[in-house]
Amino acid sequence: MLKGKGPRLSGLFLGREKGGRLVADGVARQNPKLILTSSKRPDWLPMFIAHVPSGYILSVSLLERILHAPASTSAIFWAGMTGALVPDFDLAYFYLVDHRHTHHHKYFTHWPMFWLLLLTVAMLWLRFDSKSRVALLSWIFCLGCTLHVILDSFVGDIWWFAPFINKPFALFTVQAVFQPWWLNFIWHWSFAVEAGICLWAGLLYRRRSPMNKSMKT
Ligand SMILES: [Zn+2]
Repeated sequence: MLKGKGPRLSGLFLGREKGGRLVADGVARQNPKLILTSSKRPDWLPMFIAHVPSGYILSVSLLERILHAPASTSAIFWAGMTGALVPDFDLAYFYLVDHRHTHHHKYFTHWPMFWLLLLTVAMLWLRFDSKSRVALLSWIFCLGCTLHVILDSFVGDIWWFAPFINKPFALFTVQAVFQPWWLNFIWHWSFAVEAGICLWAGLLYRRRSPMNKSMKT
């Protein structure tokens, strides 16, 4: 786990508490109204509804490209969709053990380099043994996990070069303008991207409906 000096302040996390005191930086210092206290800090929010649908889209696109897969269709769906969600399982540790002390994107479960390493290992394994069911499912699972951290990086901080460089990167930031805090995400344009991913997955599911009914388990 990457240890920093506490939760980093960014466009999303504009304030933090230090010794019971709220400390602000940058934009927040100039406009205290923008400060979100740590009790309201939505650490799990970036791309919070699109992960499983994105795993579904990933699985469908792989199924359409892989001929004679050594795994069943349902196993491929499970690997892709579970992988697309698994990095967020660290929220259990974040809330129950770490008590929100460290941003959960700093845990190794959200390090792109960690998943890219596992993805490379799985790819080499699959290259060696193209008939291996476990190698194929591991590769798809790691692809799902990598997709997760890429999507998280859209409007959330991701430590792309952890554990070597302690610096987060986010493509866009969501400013705290509305109350309650979750309205900031609903009214931000990035939510339309999430909705678009969900819609895309829904359309794919509908298109595959006849196949879903006959899908082997
Ligand atoms: Zn995540």
